[in-house]
Amino acid sequence: MRKEWPGIIEHYRDFLPVLPHTRPVTLLEGGTPLLPLERIPEKLGIKISLFAKIEGQNPTGSFKDRGMTLAVTKAHERGAKALICASTGNTSASAAAYGARAGLKVYVVIPEGKIAKGKLAQAVMHDSVVIQIQGLFDEALQVVREISETHPVALVNSVNPDRLEGQKTVSFEICDFLGHEPTYHFLPVGNAGNITASWMGYREYKMAGKMRELPRMVGVQAEGAAPIVKGHIVEKPETVASAIRIGNPASWQGALKAASESRGEIIALSDERILEAYRMLAREEGVFCEPASAASLAGVIEYARNGRFLSGETVVCTLTGHGLKDPETALSTPHSEIRVPPGKEAVLKVLGFH
Ligand SMILES: *Cc1c(COP(=O)(O)O)cnc(C)c1O
Repeated sequence: MRKEWPGIIEHYRDFLPVLPHTRPVTLLEGGTPLLPLERIPEKLGIKISLFAKIEGQNPTGSFKDRGMTLAVTKAHERGAKALICASTGNTSASAAAYGARAGLKVYVVIPEGKIAKGKLAQAVMHDSVVIQIQGLFDEALQVVREISETHPVALVNSVNPDRLEGQKTVSFEICDFLGHEPTYHFLPVGNAGNITASWMGYREYKMAGKMRELPRMVGVQAEGAAPIVKGHIVEKPETVASAIRIGNPASWQGALKAASESRGEIIALSDERILEAYRMLAREEGVFCEPASAASLAGVIEYARNGRFLSGETVVCTLTGHGLKDPETALSTPHSEIRVPPGKEAVLKVLGFH
């Protein structure tokens, strides 16, 4: 019988800062599919091996679980009784679930009215205390950082180094699956923890002799929330991709370092381009991710249109979260609503059988 996937801490124990007796707080996260995409490269007219790392298949529907299992495990081990985080949604969903699993109290501070419905539902169901702040994510993060410095609540945002340690395992999985490093790795950039962690993962795996070269990292921001690309803080970040609506990323330097060391870059694309990729994934490949996640594919499309890929290159894009998180954006994409009277006739007519 095939052994159950044990979660990222057990699977990659040797690469993680845990003690031999550490008992993971886990929901068996990680081990997500690296799905080959064939119709999209064909449509774009490029001959690359394109893969999507489907992080929406983590237990709470986003990559945040990789970092959260380690952050909560370590906080629990240190005797924490409560967790706190600021969130654009997925961090709170993940903290709420892992906190529940460990029997810890969880406080989440979110920008009022700016959270996708599915994420809020998760925080509520796992019984966290949801505090809606009349401000932006960046302000929420400032508040929870200050509180955690002076009060006995453990901060589980990605400024907590354990989060990044856990999140780096996505790169291990990609290399283990491919048997080598990809040529390029595209991913959305919000608070920039994920690109920082993914780059750290690749570097460590290379040091361990698990791969020969390093991929080029391409981070994609939304045009209305692109502080790294613009080189200055964005006071009022705005984008449909709510998970990356961040004006002052905590891991700004980490993102710059990942881009420059890997000979990659951070780019910005419009909401229109992000939504184009969002629809393309769903319609061409059967993959439903949330809008922010599609920024990675939007980056691939941008490269393809500019003739940046060489034939035979291996390209991975991280799809960071599940599409069901944000049903409102999905339902606001143009689609036909067909209403008919009861009975077979009207349905047959729609089908084109007269
Ligand atoms: C958190 C998140 C991001 C952004 O990741 P950062 O580490 O903040 O750059 C992108 N997409 C989704 C779905 C997320 O939840």
